[in-house]
Amino acid sequence: MAKGYAHRDLKLCSKDCLCLFVCPTGATDNETGQIDKDACIGCGACMRACPAHAITMMPREYPKEQEKKEEVIKALEKVIQNKIKEVAILRVLKEKEEDPNKKKLYQALYHSNKVIIEDLYRESGYMTLSSKRSQEFLAKLLQKNTQKAETIQKLLDKTTDSNSLQNV
Ligand code: SF4
Ligand code: SF4
Repeated sequence: MAKGYAHRDLKLCSKDCLCLFVCPTGATDNETGQIDKDACIGCGACMRACPAHAITMMPREYPKEQEKKEEVIKALEKVIQNKIKEVAILRVLKEKEEDPNKKKLYQALYHSNKVIIEDLYRESGYMTLSSKRSQEFLAKLLQKNTQKAETIQKLLDKTTDSNSLQNV
């Protein structure tokens, strides 16, 4: 079986049927509007013919997730620290800015950077409660933060008391 198959994005498709004419197997022509993954041989002719860029070649198998090495995690943490500084600056800028357009821009940047930080933390293995790093992080936090100790302990209990949780 071919390594890849074609996927049609119906939101982009302009229904001009060019992909139907070029497909050697008829995989593009079916009633659901989706390309038949089993009939597709991955030749890519439909993707090249599509004027709306509605077709993407997808892999049938994804590579195994790579192990995160210590240096990668350290690099991620460095980026996170820089992003945290950016967010702090953007918070001030968005609050002080009087020009409404610039204010909107700072607000958008502020929120998108916060989302990036969350993603980076997740990539570093912190955000899933099942993560071993998450547990270590919470344990460290518990030692430092006596005011929120009860909440942190509750989270920590959740990470360790369920059979479904695995160390990752
Ligand atoms: S990749 Fe080739 S076989 Fe698959 S749907 Fe497109 S034209 Fe048909
Ligand atoms: S060639 Fe592209 S735009 Fe035309 S019908 Fe096929 S997917 Fe839709």
